[in-house]
Amino acid sequence: MSASDLPVLRLKPKADARRIRHGHPWAWGDELVLDRRSRGVPAGAIARLEDTAREPLGVGVATVEAKIAFRILDPDPAAEIGADWLRAKLAAALDLREKLYATPHYRLIHAEGDGLPGLIVDRFGDLLAVQPNAIWLEERLETIADLLQELTGCATVVKNGTSRAREAEGLPAEMAVLRGAAPSAPLQVPMTGAVYLADVMGGQKTGLFYDQRPNHAFAATLARGARVLDLFSHVGGFGLAALAHGAASVLAVDSSAPALALAREGAALTGGAERFDTREADAFSAMEALVAEGTEFDLVVADPPAFAPSKAVLQQGLRAYERVANLAAKLVAPGGVLVLCSCSHAADLFRFRNSCLRGIGRAGRAPRIVQTGFAGPDHPQHPALTETGYLKAIGFRLLP
Ligand code: SAH
Repeated sequence: MSASDLPVLRLKPKADARRIRHGHPWAWGDELVLDRRSRGVPAGAIARLEDTAREPLGVGVATVEAKIAFRILDPDPAAEIGADWLRAKLAAALDLREKLYATPHYRLIHAEGDGLPGLIVDRFGDLLAVQPNAIWLEERLETIADLLQELTGCATVVKNGTSRAREAEGLPAEMAVLRGAAPSAPLQVPMTGAVYLADVMGGQKTGLFYDQRPNHAFAATLARGARVLDLFSHVGGFGLAALAHGAASVLAVDSSAPALALAREGAALTGGAERFDTREADAFSAMEALVAEGTEFDLVVADPPAFAPSKAVLQQGLRAYERVANLAAKLVAPGGVLVLCSCSHAADLFRFRNSCLRGIGRAGRAPRIVQTGFAGPDHPQHPALTETGYLKAIGFRLLP
């Protein structure tokens, strides 16, 4: 379909067209003229957006009844969103990652950050795990799988369709093998000196959290000879990096037994299984127990799931971060370091840091901020969408 045949949506006079012209890629539901014609544009359809004077704003994805009613794909009103367009976006994303990393282990596509709203692709060597989190991607999935294979040469492409975002789009939850064969065992991923195991068909998200790579590396610089506590460890993100960098001991705590089993396997492959221990527990209970035992660590990391996934639960989430900071601070030896992480976009850096500081202060400890980290460069941020800058990791030295 050529661009001139596309359905057209129009902004209301009060809508902020300049914001969109200046690069904000979304129009909100209350900004679109809603009439019988525009309501008839099916969710996920490619459409053109015009301002109230009928000047074009670009081509994008329409979801007129949703809160985000339009996502700009291309400011060029004549752009054709076909295989060539997709190939150019995917190739540009691959080019960046190949410059950044010596091994093929990275987030290849980070949604809006790579100009592809809703699309997440993680690369594990010869395997790509694709999360099509929007209808327009679901409809183009075969093309995307072909293009990904063509560009990367990867043998296997799997679909991980289990995200909450898909549910919101009315898409079914499913896992599928799109190209090649599903791996028979967890994949080995070398990163930050360690070997991680990723269960791409059964794990959380896409099996491994690449976003924490620079923060794992920061923690690893403090690991030599240290007693390390990795809270909410998943498959050992921080703990295995610390192990690889000479930690005296690592205790990984998570509520997921399968994640901890992979962490132990990873410790064996990394070298140093005898210095690596796991505890399957609720991290809050585990911290309370460790405090009661009087155990101390030189490096404590807490990387919980998003406690404030939306503005509605922000206050409750911030209290949970404060509680983590409070309990974890009690476990840090004098002069040790506490790394606290948040992947909640609703809790921005300042709010999150304040909650951490309150918790640490209530534990009677005096902190100094020695590091502030974010997601790695394979998670590019769209400057207009702070949502893509969700991850924060703050290193606090607790004074002796
Ligand atoms: N630190 C990891 C990523 C952590 S993801 C890395 O760097 O790769 C968050 C983890 O928290 C998940 O593995 C999940 O199983 C675990 N989790 C969630 N709630 C928990 C709880 N109450 N207690 C312990 N672990 C929990």
